[in-house]
Formats: sequence, structure tokens, C-alpha cells
Amino acid sequence: MSQAQYIKKNDAKIAVKEQLPTESSQLELKDMRVKFPMREGRFVHAVNGVDLVLAKGESLGVVGESGCGKSVTFSSVMRLIKSPPAIIEGEILFEGRDILKMSKREIQKIRGKDITMIFQEPMTSLNPVMRIGKQITETILLHENISEREAAIRARELFKMVDMPDAENRLWCYPHQLSGGLRQRVMIAMALACTPQILLADEPTTALDVTIQAQILELLSRLQEKTKMSIVMITHDLGIIAEITTRVAVFYAGRIVEQAPTAELFLQPAHPYTIGLLGCIPTIKTTARRLYLIEGNIPDPASLPGGCPFHPRCRFAKDICKQEEPTKREFAPQHFVACHFAEDVS
Ligand code: SF4
Repeated sequence: MSQAQYIKKNDAKIAVKEQLPTESSQLELKDMRVKFPMREGRFVHAVNGVDLVLAKGESLGVVGESGCGKSVTFSSVMRLIKSPPAIIEGEILFEGRDILKMSKREIQKIRGKDITMIFQEPMTSLNPVMRIGKQITETILLHENISEREAAIRARELFKMVDMPDAENRLWCYPHQLSGGLRQRVMIAMALACTPQILLADEPTTALDVTIQAQILELLSRLQEKTKMSIVMITHDLGIIAEITTRVAVFYAGRIVEQAPTAELFLQPAHPYTIGLLGCIPTIKTTARRLYLIEGNIPDPASLPGGCPFHPRCRFAKDICKQEEPTKREFAPQHFVACHFAEDVS
């Protein structure tokens, strides 16, 4: 396992993964926008100009409240958002090739092989009337030119790799016969079936209790080190971000408002939204009767406020914030922020 480094925040000692030197970029989003048409020519603007680079072997955290565009962004990377009716603009480059310009056949080759995704609730991704072993071998056979027997052997190996207890018998189970934690292990095994280069994990532990959550995170971390794949961990939980990622992108209203190495973001957040998210984490020394909360709600993507989209909730907002949207700029080396007053609030 890679070394964890410890930082102190609000009197709490937080372990964050050491940032490893990364190779060249593997996935690149350039000015990506996703909008959904509504009646009367109006649009829901779910993603509004996202620029992001994922390096080979990197572990990137994507954090923000529900509805801020995280899942839509990465479902678009997998081309899981139906377009049309959705309008997806910009570029999504995988190893230099634009996923948005690929044919159905080309994207099917990549999806499930080079880029895979696991979701919060495995039951919605697994076929309830098919044995688990069969589902895994079908995934392997779809992408690999091997025999059924070889695929079955590979399925057994994968179950061992994800520490499935009683692996041999579990292959004959139906999804409903397994607990939530075991079903998530099945999903991870399926995602790793063809040794992907990128794993997109969308809230993979939210539906699990904390002990199982810790086991799944430890498993993902270990598998990443073994396979050298890149992971994008999409979550609203900063504890998970600290545990498994080396760099973080904070999403708000379909934009990245802050991006930094994980340790730096925890130590010196520069955007008021990130400061608010970190302030919501209780520590062992928290004595206040009520936890801190960010007032208000995320804006309706069909009618975003002008200027900085965070201004209605921001305690540092000034007049200019209502008129001018801040652009992303380098606040410190590798630390980017979109706020007019980052230097004053951090
Ligand atoms: Fe707050 Fe203004 Fe910064 Fe937006 S630009 S986060 S409103 S201080």
C-alpha cells in the first residue's frame, strides 16, 4: 500500500494518500457541457464548461452536493446519457480520441473494457434472474476472445481478487441471495473483468454501513495499486476523498469551482463552498449543539443565478459576485479556484 500522510484539520488527524508522480493524461474533458431541453425552448444546464485531466494511474476525487453535475459528467464519459435529447458539447478525449465522436460500435468496445463504472446500488446494475457467475462470464466474453471455460476460470480468479468469501459457491447465487456489501464486490469484480484502464466509481459505498464501506474502500485502493488503473471516486463524502484520492475536483452548479491535491485542499481550501463543506465535518472536539451547515440549496439548473452561481449562499459575497462569474485561475501550484476573493477567504 502507498504511504498515507497525515494532516491536521479542526483538531482532527486526517489520513490522506500520498500523491504519487503521475504519467501522461489518460482522460481529458475540455469545456464539456451537458444540457437537457425542456418546454418552450428552455434548457436544464447540468454541466457548464468542465475542464479536467485524469492522469494514468491517478486517483481523483470528485465531490459536491447531489445535483451539482458530478454523475451527469461521468455518465457522459461512458456515453450513458442519451443524446439526443440531451445536448453534449465540448470534448471528452480518451487517449487522444474524442469519445463524443465515436460510433456506437467503437464506444461499446471501450465501455466495460477500457473504462468501467460502478454505481451506488448494485441491484440496479445486476440482472436479478441470472446467476452471478454467468453475468461475469458474459461480460468477459463480450470483450475477450476466449472460450467459455477460460471465462469461467477468470470469473473464479476475479472473485478471489475481490476477497469474495466462499467464492466458488457464490458464483452460483442470484443477486438477491447476497448482502449489499457482497453485491458491491460482485460489481467491482465485473468492472475489473477486462482489466480496465479507468474505473469510474459513482458513490459506490453510500448504501453500505461504515464497516463494509471501509472494506470496499480498502479493496479499491489495493486493487488500484495492483492493476495500476486510474480511479475517479465520485462522492459527497469528504472522508472517502481523504482516504482514497490524491487530487480533488469540487463541483458546484455543473462547474469545477476548486481543484487541488487532496492534502492541499484539506489544509488550505480557497473557495467558500469548499470551506463550507469542510466546516460541515464534525470532529471529536466538536462541542456546538448544531453542526455547521451551508445555508440554502444548490440552484435550480434550469434557472441558474447570474454572476457567481454560489453567491446566494456565500457569506463572503460582494456586489461584483452578483454580476461577474469568476473564472478558474491558479491560486497556488496545481491548485485552481474560481472565486473573486479566494485570497481573502482562505
Ligand atoms: Fe463567494 Fe463571490 Fe467567491 Fe462566489 S466569487 S464564491 S460569491 S466570494
